[in-house]
Amino acid sequence: MHISERPMQHSSIPCGRLAPSPTGHIHLGNAWAFLLAWLAARSQGGQVLLRLEDIDPQRSRPDYAAAILEDLRWLGLDWDYGPDTGGPGGPYVQSLRSEIYDTALTQLEQSGLTYPCFCTRKELRQLAAAPHVDDTGAPYPGTCRHLNEEQVQAMLQSGRKACVRLRCPQTPIRFDDAVMGPQSFLLSRCGGDFALRRSDGVVAYQLAVAVDDALMGVTQVVRGRDILPSTPRQIALLELLGYGAPSYAHVPLLLDAEGERLAKRHNSLSLRCLREQRVDPRRITGLLGHLAGLTFSAASASPAELMPAFDWSRLPRQDVRLEHRHLRGLL
Ligand code: GLU
Repeated sequence: MHISERPMQHSSIPCGRLAPSPTGHIHLGNAWAFLLAWLAARSQGGQVLLRLEDIDPQRSRPDYAAAILEDLRWLGLDWDYGPDTGGPGGPYVQSLRSEIYDTALTQLEQSGLTYPCFCTRKELRQLAAAPHVDDTGAPYPGTCRHLNEEQVQAMLQSGRKACVRLRCPQTPIRFDDAVMGPQSFLLSRCGGDFALRRSDGVVAYQLAVAVDDALMGVTQVVRGRDILPSTPRQIALLELLGYGAPSYAHVPLLLDAEGERLAKRHNSLSLRCLREQRVDPRRITGLLGHLAGLTFSAASASPAELMPAFDWSRLPRQDVRLEHRHLRGLL
């Protein structure tokens, strides 16, 4: 079946998503983005789905997946569809969806939109003379874009493994971000022809996410601004596969008191650790809601209690620092 002929689960009800990668415990920075995604959907009477992004077998662990679901529920977030509840767009676990991604990839291959690339990481590093234009690294210089069939066969026979890259459209990709405002990206300037399948056979994040958002009926994507450079790639894929794009909101990041981005190494700021210290989850969501400009104080508030105040115009446009006084207030 042509993938764009699959039945879509779209309805007129907005649908947001929480898309954790089970590569560690979630910290306050993840919780902030998930809370905002949940509020954006629920405040419009929308649905929420939870999708486990465990596409990379080397980085994902089932025990983290179980812990993430538990921690998000403890925080007061819920979802209509997910790995534990099922739903019409399921399975909601990327590692169980490889056939769906294969179908999408075949569709792109058959349309002549892809090519095999034999460059190794080392070769790419050496080729990358241009300064990096963003945090995605130097754009792929297109080395394998014009290999002919004979050259491809010769490479394969010499035992080289290929990844599959998309021939990126040359026209700018434009979208209006609910937080960051109007955006315009030239794919050739942010990463160039990107991989759809790695040389070890693992489907790339960009393809999996674009296909899942379309087939699961996601109408709004809310996530950290660190993922903004991925959005034009996902929009390009959605268009090439014959789907419309959801709306996007890329939220500022939560930083620690020193101004560093929260990361897995901030173990004391993981929901797990806060929970073990018997912190009331309503204090956490109250603080996050306050930092998002929704309330005048950081008083305890559940996600449901924050819902009526949700408004994108209140959200700060700059990254937000989590001061020591904020953390003291939690305990
Ligand atoms: N799974 C990604 C992460 O945890 C998020 C991807 C997305 O929101 O599109 O960073």
